[in-house]
Amino acid sequence: MPRLELVTGDITTERVDAIVNAANSGLLGGGGVDGAIHRAGGPAILEECRALRATTLPDGLPTGEAVATGAGRLSAKWVIHAVGPVWPGLGRLADERRALLRSAYRRSLEVARDLGAASVAFPAISAGIYGWPADDAAVVALTTSAEAEQAPERVRFVLFSARMHDTFADAAERLGLDVVVLGDRDPR
Ligand code: ADP
Repeated sequence: MPRLELVTGDITTERVDAIVNAANSGLLGGGGVDGAIHRAGGPAILEECRALRATTLPDGLPTGEAVATGAGRLSAKWVIHAVGPVWPGLGRLADERRALLRSAYRRSLEVARDLGAASVAFPAISAGIYGWPADDAAVVALTTSAEAEQAPERVRFVLFSARMHDTFADAAERLGLDVVVLGDRDPR
């Protein structure tokens, strides 16, 4: 099981080997964390995404999948673009879509591991514009990472608000998972 870490902050400034982007299927940029990563990382990331669309991914990246590019000006070596599902509202569809959210985490961890990354940072995939309820998003993120067989040694969740950080911390406690809460002074 990887070491799980929680921190509040902006994922674009994290010093880890790979950061995960909550991308959309088109891979050509968007709002939220996607926009922030492309702004901070510069045009090289978008160029690589365009090249993927022109070659291996003409129809874009399916929901639940992940693909890596370089990280441009970011301190990370790689950006792993993962596509989470849109929250469908409560009901039967929620279970199907939850499997896709799990897959987005699992595939990102596998891609990170295959690249040789020792550390990877995730935002709360689907929990912004895609509308996934924060507590459920936290449970899926934490349990999928804790159970992953193919994963880097360190998996960090970088939460953009104190509220989302608390949601992840509460979920971890309820699930009985050991997580390391990083403060501002922790070496990263
Ligand atoms: P999605 O479309 O998958 O919901 P969003 O980017 O809208 O993706 O939101 C995912 C999560 O990322 C939200 O909790 C949002 O607050 C958060 N977020 C937005 N910008 C950043 C950032 N720079 N660093 C970390 N998390 C961010």
